[in-house]
Amino acid sequence: MDTKTFKQQLLDELYQPYKHCTMCPLGTMGRTHVVFGDGNPDARIMLVGEGPGAQEDKENRPFVGRSGKLLNRTLEHLGMQRKDVFITNIVKCRPPDNRTPTIQESNTCKELLLIKQIKIIRPKIICTLGAAALRSLLDQPVKITKIRGIIRTWNNTLLLPTYHPAYILRNPKELNAFVSDLSLAIDKSK
Ligand code: URA
Repeated sequence: MDTKTFKQQLLDELYQPYKHCTMCPLGTMGRTHVVFGDGNPDARIMLVGEGPGAQEDKENRPFVGRSGKLLNRTLEHLGMQRKDVFITNIVKCRPPDNRTPTIQESNTCKELLLIKQIKIIRPKIICTLGAAALRSLLDQPVKITKIRGIIRTWNNTLLLPTYHPAYILRNPKELNAFVSDLSLAIDKSK
């Protein structure tokens, strides 16, 4: 018997036609996988990063490199595991040299995949990791240091911006802020 949840089946159906997507320039810039995202399709928290890096592109899983390890450790510290949340990125293909995705690339991927993933999962709260993810969801420039940790509503869903874990690796003094933002997201997801 197929034990996949209904939402997982919908996610699989969504991914299928885009496994070799070339709808934006990132599809033909050397990426190996279209890294769709993973975790619990029934999650109440959805984490959205910027785009896959080299390790993510290789393994076809989001946040498996150094940033991912920090994210995993933080979730575990707060009593959660990756299997409790759903993790994805604004763009699903690795940008060359890990550059920030262009607005055209993020808008294309957002409309084709991210918005539909959110509609299927229907999380209670979305936590954006870093400025690029927030900028893309809000469709406007953002100053992450000013608005991180402040909950707002986006399309009838709670939205909490926080730092990108790669930023925390470079600025460890912001770790407490990152932990407290994720802790708030977990509280609000209940
Ligand atoms: N950084 C991101 O934004 N996403 C990943 O999946 C990995 C690193």
